Amino acid sequence: MVQRMSRMMLKTLRDDPADAETASHKLLVRAGYVRRSAAGIWTWLPLGKKVLENVSRVVREEMDAIGGQEVLLPALLPKEPYETSGRWEEYGELLFRLKDRKGGEYLLGPTHEEIFTQVVKDQCSSYKDLPVILYQIQTKYRDEARPRSGVLRGREFQMKDSYSFDTDDEGLSESYRLHREAYTRIFERLGFDYRIVSAVSGAMGGSASEEFLAPAAAGEDTFVDCPACDYAANTEAVTTVVAPVAPVEHLPVEELDTPDTPTIETLAAHLDVPASATLKNLLVKVDGVITAVGVPGDREVDLGKLGEHLAPAVVELVTADDFAGRPELVRGYVGPQGLAGEAFEYIADPRVASGTSWVTGANKEGKHARNVVCGRDFEVDRYLDVVVVEPGDPCPKCGTGLEIGRAIEIGHIFQLGRKYADAFELDVLGREGKPVRVTMGSYGIGVSRAVAALAEQTADDQGLCWPREVAPADVHVVAAGKARQTEMALEVAEKLQALGVRVLVDDRAGVSPGVKFTDAELIGVPTILVVGRRAAEGVVELKDRRTGEREQLPLDDALARLGR
Ligand code: ATP
Ligand code: MG
Repeated sequence: MVQRMSRMMLKTLRDDPADAETASHKLLVRAGYVRRSAAGIWTWLPLGKKVLENVSRVVREEMDAIGGQEVLLPALLPKEPYETSGRWEEYGELLFRLKDRKGGEYLLGPTHEEIFTQVVKDQCSSYKDLPVILYQIQTKYRDEARPRSGVLRGREFQMKDSYSFDTDDEGLSESYRLHREAYTRIFERLGFDYRIVSAVSGAMGGSASEEFLAPAAAGEDTFVDCPACDYAANTEAVTTVVAPVAPVEHLPVEELDTPDTPTIETLAAHLDVPASATLKNLLVKVDGVITAVGVPGDREVDLGKLGEHLAPAVVELVTADDFAGRPELVRGYVGPQGLAGEAFEYIADPRVASGTSWVTGANKEGKHARNVVCGRDFEVDRYLDVVVVEPGDPCPKCGTGLEIGRAIEIGHIFQLGRKYADAFELDVLGREGKPVRVTMGSYGIGVSRAVAALAEQTADDQGLCWPREVAPADVHVVAAGKARQTEMALEVAEKLQALGVRVLVDDRAGVSPGVKFTDAELIGVPTILVVGRRAAEGVVELKDRRTGEREQLPLDDALARLGR
């Protein structure tokens, strides 16, 4: 069917919605693709639904190609399996919880590891039944703290989630590899500019984990990108490389009077040394036990990263109360010499390498010490990557200065291992006749988010600008003129349709050509075909939405070109 704008429910808007911050939010609303129903809850209008379906189709085709089997699980879920896994509690406020009329407790599924595990436990009993890859494209619910940015972060959204089940680690690696390749093909076909970055696995716990990121200013994730090689990583997963320290003769430790220098800035200024020559010792509590974290004075500790490293232990900042009864800890003047390994465990950034010399606290009020040498005056108990990465930090692969960019997470692949299989005692009969515990992977793509992420990456000043595979039509035929032009435009549309081209035709009566052109730019179909004044002589205009290139040519040539 040719899509006729005269008959479509489509209302474009000239002004941006008042609450919209991101380009995709503004444009998807203005071009009539989506409509906000409540905070983070969206209605997909006819054009939007087409794009959403196109994304789903590509995802489905590529999931089927790796042997994925599509299923559909409920979104309304019983509480018990999420209690078994511990996530009924762990999810905290993110979970939509509800009760039925009998008081039974339920949730709206935020992701479905538990239920898939139960399905496989029920359906598969032997190693011969595995490996299995199951997937669904389904509505997910998360009560996000700040649902903003339109469909980029919804409280109700579409996700493709898949889960692999294998009997051994090699099998899991293979299922993971298959997903990685399928995702690569999916994001290529959708027309994304994307990076695959190693991710921290977060609360899920497990081993290999990678994210697919679409660089975009509106993104909420930061990532590092090497301009020289293919290295890219989540900022929280960057590994620090440290140049080897040349052995030098160090001077003896010297104590200095440094009154009123509780901060690195005041200290560096007072001693006239760069902040990077000072050693900052941050005190934290790890499961209640005071621990010090040493980093160069010009670097910041990333508490998120520290938490990831030490999980499941809980990391908190110390308060004044924690110094009570600990006279050896002089607030603002802590140094590791004499204390590391004694008064506290000493965790340090790899830059605090053996043989490096520092200005640091002298463990006396108003005093610092210089020539404090790592390996001579103190030992590091444990090295961890805990500093915030900064632009120019060396690439762990090639040493080039890294760049930091913003991106939208569009997909996530993750080797879960046996966490859920253990919780649900998911075993199958192994080759040797004994039960073996199944190992799992979990893999997600934000289908609705992908629509907005593509809009972010491709839109321009005029409006949306879809890659062909997801566009709501291949050609937007604009009737620019009188009734005669409209008639011809409909004929052209029919002809294109017969050639297998998906067509949207602007046959609205009483709408000026100017308004029609503006709408065509806003809606963002890749090719615009104008049936205008010269149509009577058989000449039409083709315009490439992306490049803006226009060309007048005989209708037959246009049909031949577009019908390919
Ligand atoms: P984020 O860090 O953005 O909150 P996540 O790490 O919690 O995402 P996953 O649990 O890995 O997300 O979900 C798989 C995919 O679902 C994500 O890669 C993302 O594309 C999509 N997604 C997650 N949360 C939302 C949301 N609130 N709205 C739209 N898409 C989402
Ligand atoms: Mg994720």
